[in-house]
Amino acid sequence: MTVTKPKSIVVIFGATGDLASRKLFPSIYNLYKKGSLTESFAVVGVARRPWTNEILRENVAKSIEKYKPTEAELDDFCKHFFYLPFDVTDKSSYQELKNMLSSLDNEFDTEGNRIFYMAMAPEFFGTIAENLKNEGVTDTNGWTRLVIEKPFGHDYDSAKKLNNDIRAAFQEHEIYRIDHYLGKEMVQNIEVIRFANALFEPLWNNRYISNIQITSSEELGVEDRGGYYDKAGALRDMVQNHILQMVALLAMEPPIRLETDEVRSEKIKVLRALRPLHVDEVDSYFVRGQYAQSEGLDMKGYREETNVPEESNTETYVAGKIYIDNFRWAGVPFYIRTGKRMAEKSTKIVIQFKELPLNLYKDVTDVEPNLLIIHIQPDEGISFVLNGKKAGPHGLTRRVKLDYCNNCLDGMNTPEAYERLLHDCMLGDATNFTHWDEVALSWKYVDTISKAWSEKTAQFPNYEAGKMGPKAANELLEKDGYHWWPILDNNYYSV
Ligand code: NAD
Repeated sequence: MTVTKPKSIVVIFGATGDLASRKLFPSIYNLYKKGSLTESFAVVGVARRPWTNEILRENVAKSIEKYKPTEAELDDFCKHFFYLPFDVTDKSSYQELKNMLSSLDNEFDTEGNRIFYMAMAPEFFGTIAENLKNEGVTDTNGWTRLVIEKPFGHDYDSAKKLNNDIRAAFQEHEIYRIDHYLGKEMVQNIEVIRFANALFEPLWNNRYISNIQITSSEELGVEDRGGYYDKAGALRDMVQNHILQMVALLAMEPPIRLETDEVRSEKIKVLRALRPLHVDEVDSYFVRGQYAQSEGLDMKGYREETNVPEESNTETYVAGKIYIDNFRWAGVPFYIRTGKRMAEKSTKIVIQFKELPLNLYKDVTDVEPNLLIIHIQPDEGISFVLNGKKAGPHGLTRRVKLDYCNNCLDGMNTPEAYERLLHDCMLGDATNFTHWDEVALSWKYVDTISKAWSEKTAQFPNYEAGKMGPKAANELLEKDGYHWWPILDNNYYSV
């Protein structure tokens, strides 16, 4: 397969910010170092600060220090970076940008191809898109693409407004909405596990699967992001985007081809089939939590964090039961949970298969259900939990776990999500970005839950920092006869 090497200028709005230095510069460097870019690329950083090319380049150098580039490598790389002090509301800034991009097109042979990467607060996206168009910056001989970060709105109405604003300047196929989970190695592996193995696809339905559990837990609290987080909460920050995207990938029908429109259309069908909740039903399907101080672990409660109001009603934890009302999934609960200050940092999917029709070993032992576990992060891999014979004469069974570890193979250094997604965008592959219809359907689903929660004050705080969430999240499964599978691997054995 021949791999095309993209030619483009990436304009980063917000180049002095955290996202640019932590994720974007290192990703571009790694692509450059691996030879995935030609010399025909340039990066223009724009932001408010009166920086120069030299200051930007020093910051780029600092952001890639850990890769230990040689002096010569650093010089070669950094000479592709340029800085423009910018006021997003001032038309003359856009004229300067336009002139700079034309001259860089000539210098780096980038053929008028441009990526506009929005790495700043979303309230400016509409203004920027409008000015880019009105001032002729998007008017080039090549292609133009807009990359948009989360959060894409804070509910359906605000997302729709944002979408209308950017659609005034860019067409849907030019808009790349980032959900960085879709750039993760093992999230992309869900498709391969499902569609490249004869073993799973015949079982991938309500006849053989009893429930699916998705956990995305963080050990950290809100750190210094209390101000932002308190307005968002776990439902908007994690469920509307990352978790529902994983649900869609797990539940979608096999696409006709692995092409952008085909994959997106299957994911959209899943989101259309989410069983809609009525505001009065939310408490039977969703649980919210907020972490309390843990004296034993010396951890603050959420309400004691910086920039968080003392009486905050914001959830730092969500668990829920989602149904997909279609032929394949009728009756199979998808349990999801995500939260901050939990016992361990881990994103895992557990597919629990149905019990056998008859347990031939019932006089001596319980036979436990088979599990397929997809480890998304920090460990990447797949485990299969089966029942085998316990050594000895009595015919006892034991749990056996078969492991495939994706990131423990020697020399395997899987690329960062941002690296993969930036490269996809340069190549014009939007498969792992979210279409507006996905965003809209996800918000509509989540808005009902937010509405129900906004109408009632929660009994917060309700889980201890460093633990796995509130008791009600366990009860959610217990009433269906299930339990959460532990996220620590050793617990899958019950010898
Ligand atoms: P940040 O506050 O660190 O940086 C914001 C940048 O925007 C700075 O470069 C600042 O100079 C620039 N800026 C702000 N107002 C401006 C104006 N009026 N004119 C010109 N430039 C202006 O923010 P960040 O953490 O880098 O996040 C950027 C965006 O990415 C946000 O939408 C955020 O939600 C999203 N995001 C960030 C992360 C992350 O890891 N940091 C992860 C996911 C999404």
